[in-house]
Amino acid sequence: MSGSWRIFRALGIDVYVHWSWFIALLIFFQLFGGDNPALFLLLFGTLFGVVVLHEYGHALACRSVGGHVGHIVLWPLGGIAFVQPPPRPSALLWTIAAGPLVNLALIPLGIGALLAAGAVGAGEAIVMYLNWFVYINILLFLFNMIPAYPLDGGQILQAVLWYFMPRARAISYSAAIGLGFGGLMVAFGLIGHINPEIGRTLPITPLWMAILGAFITMEAYKTFLMAKNRI
Ligand SMILES: [Zn+2]
Repeated sequence: MSGSWRIFRALGIDVYVHWSWFIALLIFFQLFGGDNPALFLLLFGTLFGVVVLHEYGHALACRSVGGHVGHIVLWPLGGIAFVQPPPRPSALLWTIAAGPLVNLALIPLGIGALLAAGAVGAGEAIVMYLNWFVYINILLFLFNMIPAYPLDGGQILQAVLWYFMPRARAISYSAAIGLGFGGLMVAFGLIGHINPEIGRTLPITPLWMAILGAFITMEAYKTFLMAKNRI
C-alpha cells in the first residue's frame, strides 16, 4: 500500500486514496475550479462518493459469493477493489457486474430526486447538480460496460465466455478487444487534442481520454500475453 493513505473503513473494508489522486484533484481544480471552487469541490466530492459506492458493489458482491475481499484504492483513473472471487464463472460475473449495477441503480434515484426538486420548485443550482449526478452515473455505467478488458464490461465478457471455453482463452479474447479499444481511445484523444473542433465532440477531455486509453492498452497487453502463454 505504498503511496496510499487510508481514508476510512466501512463494512470491514479499508478505503485508500493514492497520492496521485491528490495531484489529479489539483490539476482539475486549476482547469475547472477557478470560477466556482465550492461547486467544483462538491462535484469532485460526489464523483469520489459515486466511485467508492461502485467499488463497494464489487467488494460486497465478492463477499456474498464467498470470495476474498481486500481493500479499495482510489487513484486518478478511477477505483480498484482488490477482490478475489472463487474461480468459477458465476462468481466472477456477479462480482464484476455489481459495480456498474450500483451506477445503474443511482440513475433512477437521481431522476426521482430531480422530479421531487421540480415538484417543490427547488433552485436552479440543485436541479443542475442533480442533472450532473444522473449524467455521471450514466457515463460511468456505459463506459464500464464497454466489453474491453480491463474495464468491467471486458471482465463480464470474460466471465460469460468462460462458461463455454477455458478461462485463459476467454481472458485472451477480452484482452484483445481491450487492446483495440485502448488504441482507439489514444488515437481519438490525440486527434481531439490537436484539433479542438473534434475534441469538443468527445465525451471527456481529449488528453484525459488519451491517458486513459494508454493505460487500458498497457493493461490489456500485459494480460493478453499472460493468457496467451497459458493457452
Ligand atoms: Zn468496476
